[in-house]
Amino acid sequence: MTPARAGSSRANGINMRLLLVEDDSALAADLRLKLAEAGYAVDWSASARDADWLLRQEDYQAVILDLGLPDQPGLDLLKSWRHAQQDLPVLILTARGAWFEKVEGLKAGADDYLAKPFHSEELLARLNALIRRHNRAVPGQLVVGELQLDEARQAVLLAGQALALTGHEFRLLRFLMHHPGQLFSKAQLAEQLYDLEQEVDSNTLEVFIARLRQKIGKERIVTRRGQGYCLHV
Ligand code: CA
Repeated sequence: MTPARAGSSRANGINMRLLLVEDDSALAADLRLKLAEAGYAVDWSASARDADWLLRQEDYQAVILDLGLPDQPGLDLLKSWRHAQQDLPVLILTARGAWFEKVEGLKAGADDYLAKPFHSEELLARLNALIRRHNRAVPGQLVVGELQLDEARQAVLLAGQALALTGHEFRLLRFLMHHPGQLFSKAQLAEQLYDLEQEVDSNTLEVFIARLRQKIGKERIVTRRGQGYCLHV
């Protein structure tokens, strides 16, 4: 089977591209849809050989790897990547009840695992956590387009220039940068800003969004009517 390539989603050097290695085409189709809805561009491969080839061609942010592949055990593929110093986050999919696959997978360098069957929501949550952890592991490396997050200095740089942000604006922007392309309702974003002294309502949140837009450029925060906001990728 020919590997399926997602359309280019890369803009301004951001990479929200995933490699999905799964020979069950129905499951793969379902996951591709869910991942695309969550803002990822997904390349799909149904064999170890194609997956290995794609990984050499493209920059991915993470890999979802089924261990039961037709041409080569996914575990061997993972071992070969780690042997070649490939340190991308890899989430493995293991067969139902095959607890040993999970153990072997983690030993071979998987960052996380999910046993089939699973809910796509859980896959998304784990994937996002994995990518976040990976980005945090390299301080100052979280870059979304021209925006760069400097956790140590609690600052965000736009095209190399530090932005003057209030505490709330910083927290909001940091949260969005950790989830680029992902849509959040006003309530979800307000929750990120909530602290002991102050509850943020949706009108206040709109004010924060408007001020952030003035500082980083209107087009960088996209409004989806009736749904919420997302950071443009
Ligand atoms: Ca399989």
